Amino acid sequence: MTTSSPRPLFTATVAVAVCHLCEDQAPADDEPAVTLRPAHGSPRPVRLCARCRSIRPGRDRGELVADDWTWAFLEREVTALGRDHGAGRWLPYRDELHWAQNLHTATWTQSTVEHALRDAEPHVSTGRLVHVVEPLPRLLALVNDGDPALRTLRRFLNNITAGPA
Ligand SMILES: [Zn+2]
Repeated sequence: MTTSSPRPLFTATVAVAVCHLCEDQAPADDEPAVTLRPAHGSPRPVRLCARCRSIRPGRDRGELVADDWTWAFLEREVTALGRDHGAGRWLPYRDELHWAQNLHTATWTQSTVEHALRDAEPHVSTGRLVHVVEPLPRLLALVNDGDPALRTLRRFLNNITAGPA
């Protein structure tokens, strides 16, 4: 028979701070905060999770830039659509899939993605897929095609275009 100490009812509470960008992971305590500069009021330090800190588009700067928010929005939307796709709640129809395949195989620059968005058929352009891709051209002003900031979207496009073998 083994003895084990009883599980404590309460674990020691460390300050539960959520990541200022993605809001769902506890940032590491020992990392320096980044600066948030609101339109009103004075700049203040905020904490980020390790993931956001390492792959946000403005990661080389000690402060949050507008593109970091754009990126966080894109991540959230892509993750939600990926979840719905996995659960079968959202499935691309033929034209949408075709659009996704073209985007997936293209080299992403601001102009190629802008063209793809502009040239989407009206019923593709009002769909959820185009909606999640809309912030991409802005991010491509700051990061390139293979940047880790775009990995979630890349993986998502890979998943939805892979299809049954
Ligand atoms: Zn985060």
